[in-house]
Parts: sequence; C-alpha cells; structure tokens
Amino acid sequence: MTIDLRSDTVTKPTPEMLEAMFNAPLGDDVYGEDPTVNALETFAADLFGFESALYCSSGTQTNQIAIKVHTQPGDEVICHEEAHIYRYEGGGTMINSNVSMRFIRGNSGRINPDDLFDEINPDDVHYPITRLVCIEDTANRGGGAIYDFEDIKKIRQFCTNNNLKLHLDGARVFNALAENGIDVKIYGNQFDSISICLSKGLGAPVGSVLLGNRTFIKQARRVRKYFGGGMRQAGIIAAGGLFALQNNIKRLKDDHYRAKQIGDLLQSAKWVDHLLPVDTNIVVAVIKNAAEQTAILTNLKDKGILCSAFGKGRIRLVTHLDISDSDLTYLKEQVSNL
Ligand SMILES: *Cc1c(COP(=O)(O)O)cnc(C)c1O
Repeated sequence: MTIDLRSDTVTKPTPEMLEAMFNAPLGDDVYGEDPTVNALETFAADLFGFESALYCSSGTQTNQIAIKVHTQPGDEVICHEEAHIYRYEGGGTMINSNVSMRFIRGNSGRINPDDLFDEINPDDVHYPITRLVCIEDTANRGGGAIYDFEDIKKIRQFCTNNNLKLHLDGARVFNALAENGIDVKIYGNQFDSISICLSKGLGAPVGSVLLGNRTFIKQARRVRKYFGGGMRQAGIIAAGGLFALQNNIKRLKDDHYRAKQIGDLLQSAKWVDHLLPVDTNIVVAVIKNAAEQTAILTNLKDKGILCSAFGKGRIRLVTHLDISDSDLTYLKEQVSNL
C-alpha cells in the first residue's frame, strides 16, 4: 500500500477525465485553432471575470510569463521571502526578466499590507524601479495559509496608488476560495494577472492558465512562444484541465477536512513538536529533533507513506483527489505505532 502525500501534483486522471481527453476536439493551438484550448481559456477567464486567458505548460511558466510582461529589465519585483516565484522557479525571474527581487517577511508566507509602505523605491537613479507585487494564495511555504480578503484589498489599493501591478500566484487559489467564500469575480477583480494551476488539487495531469486583460494576454502569448511554450494539439491535455475546472472545484473541502484529520493525528505523535495551522490541504509538521528528519521520513516511507522534507526539521503532507478515507484509516494505524 502506498499513500502519496508528497504533493497534490501526484494525482492521476480519473476514467471520466481520460474520456473527456480522448473525445476532445483538437486543432493547432499556435494558429489559435484548438477548440478545446479555446474553450478552457474562455471558461477560466469568465470564471474570474477576466477578458482573456492563456493555457501554459506549468505554473512556473505562467508566473514567469506574467513577470516578463509586467516588467522591464532592471526593474524590481516585491514578493514574500518564501514565494514560489523566487524559491522554486530555478532563478527564472533573474534569467528571463533580468529583474531584482525585494523580499518581505510575513506571517505564514503572506505579505502584511502595512509592510509594503517602506519598500517602494523613490524616483531616484540610485534605485531600481519598483514595478510589480506578487502574492501567493494559498501560501505554499506558509502551510497552505489563506489571505484575509481585506488584506488583499489593501494591497490592491496600495499598488494602484503607487502605480504597481499586482500578480497572484494562484497555484492553489481554489483551495483559498473554497474556505473564504469570497465571490470569485470580486476576488479576481483585485489582480492585474492571475496564474491558476490545473494539475494541483484540481487533478488534471498537465497545465496552468494565465489570466489578464486582452493586451496583457496578447503579449503573454508572444512571450510563451519565445519561451518555447507554444503547443500544437494541446487540447488533448487542456481537456483534462477543463474537466477539472468543471468538476473538481466543489470537492476541495474534502481535502481540507482530511488534512485537518491528519493534523489531529500528527499533533499527538511523540516526534512532532507542533504543526503550522491547517487552513487548507497542506499539513506542515515541525519535528522535535530536527536531526531525526531523515529517519522519520524513511520510517514513514517503509510503511508506504510518502511525505516531503520541507526545510530543516519540517515535514509536509498534502491531501488531494487520490487520498481517500481508507488511506486515512491506514495512516492512523501506522502513525500511532511509529
Ligand atoms: C506548484 C506551484 C506553482 C507551479 O508549479 P509547476 O510545477 O511549475 O506547475 C507555482 N506556485 C506555487 C505556490 C506552487 O505551489
């Protein structure tokens, strides 16, 4: 028995999703002629109240394209010090966009709007031009923490006042929306661009979508091309993404419920010091003795339970479409005698 809690990216397409993929009408998307890609882009844009959208190969690609379109070489981008765009995208922002990064520390991967005030450079030749703010909701390194919507609105206002663009790395935005209950269009309206992942909790095998206005997406399409991301009959994978948006959003709360159960279980494990708050589908356990991290992971792995190391002394477990209640029962038995 294997229970894979390393990430919500490990899901496999269900028979229903595969059927949608097999039956998808296809065309050459670089010519704009793939009906399934076009349907996915329209569906995603409408959902968040955006004019336009672009299907891409990954969330790294959508984020990197967004940063490229929003900035000029030499500009500065503000993000949380633990943001995916900085930590997990291979240094792409520096390579692709030649921008510098300015980091904000903040509670559980989230930027506190009050902390932005001192970070905007004055119009002076000594400083790079501050151009863009990127936030993550939910925040991965923060253990799936959700932004308070009032904070997002303050950040939006601040960006408007200072002529900055605001990009959302919404790899897990549907997990946030499932919990905060904010109207999707009102939420979407706060951002200049949004990246959503179809291959995380939504369970599609491949792809992300970038949302923006018509001019932004037109430029993004050009950047995607020269980043090598123009795909031909991409409808065959986009169909899985469209199926995911139409069918798998509603069930995300099940993942959150199971993550809470895993949290309760680990709370009482003798090797766990404490947990980060379990807001959504990510459980981060801080272990008592950091030196035992590898041994604990190996022990769990021997029992068929796969988790990830998440920085020093931290273990991450993520629930998703392929984790069932019977997996939890097994996990309970195993963890209690670890
Ligand atoms: C997974 C993830 C991404 C995108 O990752 P890809 O593997 O490139 O699709 C972006 N941001 C966050 C916060 C993520 O968790």
